[in-house]
Amino acid sequence: MRITGGRVFTGESFAAGTVEVRGDRIAHVELEGAAGAAPADAACADTVSADDAAGGEAEASACTAGTAPADLDASGCYVVPGFIDLHVHGALGADLCDGTVEAIQTLMRYEASCGVTALCPTTMTFPESVLAPVMDAARVFEPARDEATLLGINMEGPFISPDKVGAQNPDYVQRCDAAMIRRLQERAGGLIKLVDIAPERDGALEFVRAMHDEVRISIAHTCATYADAKAAFAAGAQHVTHLCNAMPPLHHREPGVIGAAFEDAQTVELICDGKHVSPTMVRIVFTLFAGRVAVISDAMRAAGLADGDYPFGGQMVSVHDSLAWLTPDTIAGSVTNVAECVRRLVMEMDVPATAAVRAATETPARALGAFDERGSLDAGKVADVLVLDRDFRVKHVVLRGELIK
Ligand SMILES: [Zn+2]
Repeated sequence: MRITGGRVFTGESFAAGTVEVRGDRIAHVELEGAAGAAPADAACADTVSADDAAGGEAEASACTAGTAPADLDASGCYVVPGFIDLHVHGALGADLCDGTVEAIQTLMRYEASCGVTALCPTTMTFPESVLAPVMDAARVFEPARDEATLLGINMEGPFISPDKVGAQNPDYVQRCDAAMIRRLQERAGGLIKLVDIAPERDGALEFVRAMHDEVRISIAHTCATYADAKAAFAAGAQHVTHLCNAMPPLHHREPGVIGAAFEDAQTVELICDGKHVSPTMVRIVFTLFAGRVAVISDAMRAAGLADGDYPFGGQMVSVHDSLAWLTPDTIAGSVTNVAECVRRLVMEMDVPATAAVRAATETPARALGAFDERGSLDAGKVADVLVLDRDFRVKHVVLRGELIK
């Protein structure tokens, strides 16, 4: 399959070119004016600047499937790597913590149809007895042709602060326990990639020192001071879970987790549904953390469902206004997906298109240690490729080399 006529994401910009797919791999990327496989700096006169993309000024026409059945005409469209979400709980009524393969299949099929081609589904704060069958299900999951790839498991809790639980259950919060994570990791077959901790809690720093070579440690759901967070990064933490949410705000005399992350974090997550973090703060974070932001959905099981009231886990959840609500005042979680977040970043939040796409592809791939296989349009990588229209809506999804949308 050749994806022709589109503006191809090079990692730094968009340039006219063709992406050739053979089997489940990207065989060749050719940019106009460049000989052979395209280097990232080949973009020149034909480059669509981020401002052009955001402003919708670039010439565009309807994207259509090409006349040759094996080709995809992306004229007037953008061609980008499949999006990656490293923090997502569920969709269409299913949640990873249901502990069944069927729940994972439902999530993976929904996300792939949205253009999110690889995921790190995420657990909530539960006891080991609930988490163990989740690991079993993830270990045996194999994606069908229309299901996204499972890159790993993100453990959001139970080692968080009971004072910053958000929508998580404080009854199950517990002290950091390395032996427990190693038991779960064995059941998961090594799939656990991220583990969240609140650094100010007893035993947290010892846990970071003991585990940071085995999993990526993320600061999350925390009351940590700047000094607490600096100590966690010094001990080996590398990542921050949904920066700004469930942590003290950036203060000019106590810069907190956000200030420490600015200095020390390798990567930070940001929920970009336009609700959890204000558009101004989103622009600030993209500026302060340039190249280090991973866009996440943090979507829960109501994602993909129509507005209405649904019984979930013994509680009623109301979906409206692009959020799920436990009560009229309490957000239960997001119902977005990373493709929708990228569209909002570019079209509604004035984040440069190159930065938004990178935050949904290269940065999460690097955070998961998966950049050698995914996260950019380079020959040899897995052929997860999206065609986006001029408004950054997903028109086509190529999943592991097959056109599924
Ligand atoms: Zn979450």
